[in-house]
Amino acid sequence: MNDNCPRCPRENVAPITELRDGTQVSHLYRCAGCGHVWSTNRDLGAYGEAA
Ligand SMILES: [Zn+2]
Repeated sequence: MNDNCPRCPRENVAPITELRDGTQVSHLYRCAGCGHVWSTNRDLGAYGEAA
């Protein structure tokens, strides 16, 4: 699941790693434009992906 960089206009940044813990999934991103690193946490239940 791609995300937009919060520090520059770059969009559709692909995650460099994904961590799953129960119904939570974390994605780590690194912007190729400005080098900013950020992560997101999502509840899989909200996306209908929970196993
Ligand atoms: Zn950026």
